[in-house]
Amino acid sequence: MRRHRKAKIVATLGPASSSEDVIRRLFDAGVDVFRLNFSHGTHDDHAERHRTIRRIEQETGRPIGILLDIQGPKLRLGSFSGGPVWLSKGQRFRLDLDPAEGGKDRVHLPHPEIFASLSPGRELLVNDGRVKLGVLECDGESALTEVLVRGEVSSHKGVNVPGVILPISVITEKDRADIEYGLSLGVDWVAQSFVQQPEDVRELRGLVGDQAAIMVKLEKPSALDNLDGILDLCDGAMVARGDLGVELPPQQVPVAQKEIVRRCRRDGKPVVIATHMLDSMVQAPVPTRAEASDVANSVYDGADAVMLSAESAAGEYPVESVAMMDSIIHSVEQDILYRNIIDAQRPEPDSTAADAICNALQTVTGILSSTVTVTYTTSGSTSIRAARERPDAPILGVTPELRTARFLSMVWGVHPVVTDVANTDANLLTVIDAAKEISVREGFAASGDNIIIAAGIPFGISGTTNSLHVATID
Ligand code: PGA
Ligand code: MN
Repeated sequence: MRRHRKAKIVATLGPASSSEDVIRRLFDAGVDVFRLNFSHGTHDDHAERHRTIRRIEQETGRPIGILLDIQGPKLRLGSFSGGPVWLSKGQRFRLDLDPAEGGKDRVHLPHPEIFASLSPGRELLVNDGRVKLGVLECDGESALTEVLVRGEVSSHKGVNVPGVILPISVITEKDRADIEYGLSLGVDWVAQSFVQQPEDVRELRGLVGDQAAIMVKLEKPSALDNLDGILDLCDGAMVARGDLGVELPPQQVPVAQKEIVRRCRRDGKPVVIATHMLDSMVQAPVPTRAEASDVANSVYDGADAVMLSAESAAGEYPVESVAMMDSIIHSVEQDILYRNIIDAQRPEPDSTAADAICNALQTVTGILSSTVTVTYTTSGSTSIRAARERPDAPILGVTPELRTARFLSMVWGVHPVVTDVANTDANLLTVIDAAKEISVREGFAASGDNIIIAAGIPFGISGTTNSLHVATID
């Protein structure tokens, strides 16, 4: 089974998509990677979904990626004694460390780190940014604020502090337990919420080691200030527009999105566009025109994947949402303009043998009309460097490692296949024959077609991509 598109689909599982039947239909409709969102649900819920995905993988013989998303340090207010409180513009409102229940004048904010980092003039956003408080005075234990944007606040609502790097670990106790549990199940990617600086990624790497790839969720303006350092240390990135849009004015989110995609493509790091992509499909069987356009534009920008959140996790139309994404991607990739746009943003190759080979793929594909490029890869890196060129022909990522195949399911244009044909004992002819056989079997080539093979010789050694071979199917 092959998909007839390059950009990938990530779908979040939740109450609307926990049965084997629905997960199966989501996969059939086009999901390449399933996201387990540990902000919601119990460990047992996630384990059950995980088992179902692996069962479907077994039945279909197609590697499927699983992304564990950790909640991270979501800051919250304490509780109010008499239900929600309305804050009027211009009034004073105090936040403090006193655990007593709050009212219309004050509330507990159980995060000493925030008080330590605040200064007059800073702003706090409450309840997904709906209410804005301006700090007037701050003494390390409390802050007196003025209500700048009025609205309702209530118990445990989320708090954002834009532009302040808080001196707290980005990985909470809950995250540690979730990571340990997720790794014991076996996940391919770990998504790290609220990353602010390179050090945060280093800390997660210490916990995850080489058991999973790391995807940073870019949802803090401070992460954008440190983007290059963060991208150096991660394996992929997500434009997490939900939280990013709380701290950045809406008009800056699309600009940030394009910049992130551009830098990820430059660095060859898979990049996912997330949140509200088809949001109205939570309740309706068709998206708004603007949503369809949003998905399409992400594909025109060359993102590796587009993601569904509530649409597939909690909506009324999870399968329809995936099918809609699949057809939007498909129609963009048929557009002749798409190729011009993608090529115009093609990043320069690094001065390495692997990039030289991958750069040549597009030229050779064009001259020979080859139908597929077969990349032999152990770590996945050759397939990713090939995908970085965004070539016309699809890329087979042939690897002896099942975990590499699952990891590659996130990557633009790569169809992963597990086989250990290119091991250290292999010779060139057997590897070429295997490439032909796999291309035909997986539906990427037929008699008379040219295929291209990119590999490292000698085989079976990581990081040696140095050869490009053209073969014709008999
Ligand atoms: P979330 O992350 O769904 O875990 O909040 C994505 C986002 O903020 O966009
Ligand atoms: Mn978020």
